[in-house]
Amino acid sequence: MFLHRKELIQPVSVGVPDARFGTFLLEQFGGATGELTAALQYWVQSFHVEDAGIRDMLQDIAIEEFGHLEMVGKLIAQHTSRIDQTSVFDAPLFKLKGGGPHFLDSQGSCWTAAYIQEGGNVVRDLRADISAEAGARQTYEALIKACDDENSKKVLVHLLTREITHANMFMKALDSMGKLDDPFFGNIEPDETVRLVFNLSQGEDERGPWNEEPDFDFVENPKPAGGFPPAPINPDDEHRAPSRAPAKASKKGTANRSA
Ligand code: MN
Ligand code: MN
Repeated sequence: MFLHRKELIQPVSVGVPDARFGTFLLEQFGGATGELTAALQYWVQSFHVEDAGIRDMLQDIAIEEFGHLEMVGKLIAQHTSRIDQTSVFDAPLFKLKGGGPHFLDSQGSCWTAAYIQEGGNVVRDLRADISAEAGARQTYEALIKACDDENSKKVLVHLLTREITHANMFMKALDSMGKLDDPFFGNIEPDETVRLVFNLSQGEDERGPWNEEPDFDFVENPKPAGGFPPAPINPDDEHRAPSRAPAKASKKGTANRSA
């Protein structure tokens, strides 16, 4: 059951409407790092998570993200409530589609379910969720830097803050499974290369805990270990005629041009 209350979780009251900034805000309404992506990602994940506590957490956060979607939507609606002739040129998207919000990103691309990361394993899901919160937080920081309206800024700082809280909750959930700092999860054992770090970008090499003992063996000059693969087999493929070997081809070309 869903129950919607019309009061917002935090006040949204734009001081000076700016349709161009409304276009930027679309990134958090219909964009990859936006609130629709977060809400639907955590919601759908909750359907296949066995752990009751983590399932409940995912549902609480999913619903909060729907509340965020509502707040961003109200911000966009207020920023596009007065599209004067000057801002029309800065925000053609709203001139053509009408005042916001719409499920488009700041560049006018349609929202897509391909933004959503979910499925198969709760560790994968929670790690994807930390990534989603990082993306959302970063977009909010960019929006806050680009924002001239103090009232809008207040809302955006609240939204940025909540993404930090969510990231912390996801990290604590992973930690409770011992999976916050353990790269292994799932049921398939890795092969013998699991400790190897290949120095494949050579010159001015940097060393650090990501390629050092005790977790890693650094391979200074990696060599191919797979040998040459068999030649491809394709019965339908075309072949060069013996008389058109590459060495003679350039002479023939010259002759043809002069003819
Ligand atoms: Mn959010
Ligand atoms: Mn969040």
